[in-house]
Amino acid sequence: MIIVISGPSGVGKGSILSRLLEEDKSIGYSVSVTTRAKRPFEVEGKSYYFRSEDEFDTMLANNEILEWDVYCGHKYGTPIFALEKHLEEGKDIALDITLPGAQAIKKHFKEEAVTVFLLPPSFQDLEFRIRNRESETEEQIRARLNAARHELMQFGMCDYVIVNDKIENAVCELRKIIHAERRRSFRNKGILQKYDLV
Ligand code: 5GP
Repeated sequence: MIIVISGPSGVGKGSILSRLLEEDKSIGYSVSVTTRAKRPFEVEGKSYYFRSEDEFDTMLANNEILEWDVYCGHKYGTPIFALEKHLEEGKDIALDITLPGAQAIKKHFKEEAVTVFLLPPSFQDLEFRIRNRESETEEQIRARLNAARHELMQFGMCDYVIVNDKIENAVCELRKIIHAERRRSFRNKGILQKYDLV
């Protein structure tokens, strides 16, 4: 199963996914490639693969990126090698990507992909969270808030929606979605093998 989390910058996608991945070792995280600058607390290869424009374009030309998008002037993409590694290990995969990215993943993986949109409790709350992390300039904050307005109006493109009012509640909701999705009959085609019916 491919679990795609989308939602505006600052809504808490990263924190929610970290908690989920800590608890559920059967889910691997798809580390994206980006051309944006590394923030002080970020770790190369864990938060992102930080690459130059040229390096990113070379990966694109070599078909090493499954989907990609431009967000606030920077390129972000899902590298195929990361997905393959997790799939080979038999893991489900979690992605934190933009809505167009989520749509592309859905188109590629069809019902294997589950898309979840994370909403802030209010727009004011989102603005507070973006300003509070003090990692962007005023211009970048405004660009992210503008992008957020646009993204919020399109939440209906995702299969599920969660309001991140309290992180514990949001993680719990996400766990329930994953739990139910794992029980869908099409994901359990091999279940009758042990019944010895023939
Ligand atoms: P940030 O700069 O805040 O880390 O990320 C900006 C936006 O880019 C977020 O909405 C995040 O979900 C999205 N993003 C990160 N990696 C990818 C990716 O590989 N593909 C796409 N389409 N979006 C991504």
